[in-house]
Amino acid sequence: MGEFRNVRTRCPLCSHVFRAPHVGSYVTVGRETDLCPKFPGRQSDGSRLIRNTITMCPACSFAAGEDFSGLDLTFDERYDIEERLGEDGLLKVFRASPPPWLAFHAAEVCGQERGLRFRELGDLCLRASWVCRKEREHPFESTFQLRALRYFIRALREEGLHGRELSVTTYLVGELNRRLGNHREALNWYVNAERTLGDEAGRGAGLAWLDRLISEQSKLAREQAA
Ligand SMILES: [Zn+2]
Repeated sequence: MGEFRNVRTRCPLCSHVFRAPHVGSYVTVGRETDLCPKFPGRQSDGSRLIRNTITMCPACSFAAGEDFSGLDLTFDERYDIEERLGEDGLLKVFRASPPPWLAFHAAEVCGQERGLRFRELGDLCLRASWVCRKEREHPFESTFQLRALRYFIRALREEGLHGRELSVTTYLVGELNRRLGNHREALNWYVNAERTLGDEAGRGAGLAWLDRLISEQSKLAREQAA
């Protein structure tokens, strides 16, 4: 399993000092078809490893995937983030006993105010859905899959993705649609993802695994759509 170190951390929003777990090196044994890493051992240990990639301040709920010491918030960002965290419905309800996905939700809210790219916001929601699955929180798994899907579509439309990021994101839009039961929509996106790989270009860039995955998941979606 992964190693945990507790690292002294200062919140960039409220200056509260606390000890946050940091993930050291860990072993994975492949990935699921939505790219969720598989870990040896119990599901809950894997969930903890993914959760520890997000730091959340226990005092004000500021959260981010980045190291807090590298974050420098502007006056306006601080103000806007404080407002958002203060009025967020889910944080109000769940702050007292945080479910495993709450830090991702907080990081998403803070990330919106910090102007993170849609691709990055989608990634936060995707990781939240992995944690929900490992923790058997199925309604929340779907909620986060849907949010990830919407961010990824906006990223594809507005952020000029290219190369590996374009191919992987397009594939994920297909795969998330399939997991949400939209099989025909999924098939269209798998075709788009296949196109982004080009002929030799994409496969030469180490994406043969993605090409294989697209074929397998298209076959599955076709069976499910029938
Ligand atoms: Zn704080």
